[in-house]
Parts: sequence; structure tokens; C-alpha cells
Amino acid sequence: MIEIVFAGRSNVGKSTLFSQLFGVKVRRGKRPGTTIKPNQIKFKDLLVTDLPGFGYISGVDKEFNERVKDFIVEYIEKNAERIILAVQVVDGKSFLEIAERWERRGYIPVEVEMFEFLNEVCSKVFLAVNKMDKVDNPNEVLDAIALKLGMTPPWKDWTHVIYPISAKEGKINNLREAIKRRLIEIGRSDLIPVL
Ligand code: GDP
Repeated sequence: MIEIVFAGRSNVGKSTLFSQLFGVKVRRGKRPGTTIKPNQIKFKDLLVTDLPGFGYISGVDKEFNERVKDFIVEYIEKNAERIILAVQVVDGKSFLEIAERWERRGYIPVEVEMFEFLNEVCSKVFLAVNKMDKVDNPNEVLDAIALKLGMTPPWKDWTHVIYPISAKEGKINNLREAIKRRLIEIGRSDLIPVL
């Protein structure tokens, strides 16, 4: 069994991306912040996992958010051997504002923490920067996001890691092609039709 996981803060557009990529509507929880079960689909021996959204959701208690984070970390650690790719999805429109808000309060932003963790544990990590249709100055924003996540700008030096997309508009081909290349890299071009 091999696995691709998708991780991201709630509301970044992970479900939208997932259905665009794999042509399936994922089962949604009753309401955000009530279920921790990941959504999974299987193609032959490829498991694709949409991990629960993490980060603060208004109206949901802190303890639940911590449990979601713990679940994700444990899930990834437990399955690290078979995870051939982790895709972290962020919202290009709100990433910097949210990250800077947490930094001002003296915390490491959860998305920064998650990206570091994924890079420590997974053999390959992509950063999908979604909602680019709402971003007015893409290069500036992508440079700043790269910097926050430990990648020295310009972001264009990191096009093997950073994929600006708009899931809602179906503009995800750069990411789709990169996932295909990853499958080829590990000798599983037979799985390309999945995408
Ligand atoms: P999830 O919580 O990460 O699974 O997020 P969803 O897929 O449910 O999307 C959250 C909201 O963002 C929905 O209102 C989507 O329509 C919207 N959304 C998703 N992708 C995009 C995008 O590329 N651009 C814009 N403008 N909105 C998006």
C-alpha cells in the first residue's frame, strides 16, 4: 500500500481540491469541528487521504482543535513508511494575516509547525497555495509565504515545492502534473490514470 495525504487548516479549500483532483465528492462531516475521521479513497493499492482540517475554528473549543492536531501527527507518524507524498494546502489570501497574528501573540503558527513536521517525516512534501484567484499581488504573496515556511525567496526557486492553484476555478494542473511526476519517480506510472 502507498499513500498520498492532504493536510490543511479548515476552510483552505481542501475538499474542493480533493474533488477536482480525483473527481469524487468527499463525504463531509455534519459540521466543521465535529468529526476527526479522515476521508479516504482507494485506487488499487493507492490510498488517498484527506486529513481533518486543523487550526482554530470559531465556535469550536480549543481542546477539540488540539485533538485534531494530535490525530494528524499520530496518523502521519504511524503511516510514514507508506506515505509517498504529503500535500499541505494553505489559503493564499489569508495565510500571512493568520500567521502574523499568531506570531504577534508569541506562537509559532500552526501551519508553519505542520509544514516543518511534514518535511521531517515525509519523503516528499508539496505546498498547494489555494485561492490564488483572490490574491492581487501573487509574486509578493508567494515570496512571503515561502519565507515564513523556511524557503528563501524568490518562490520561483521553489516551484518543485510550491504550487499556486485555484481549486474553485479548476486551475490545478500544475499540482496534478507534479503528483503524476511523483508517481513516475517512485516507479508507479500505472497509477497516473487516477489523476
Ligand atoms: P476545506 O474546509 O478546506 O475542505 O474547504 P472547502 O473545500 O470546503 O472550501 C472552503 C470555502 O472556500 C468554500 O466556500 C469554497 O467554495 C471556497 N474555495 C475553495 N477553493 C477556492 C478557491 O480556489 N478560490 C476561492 N475564491 N474560494 C475557494
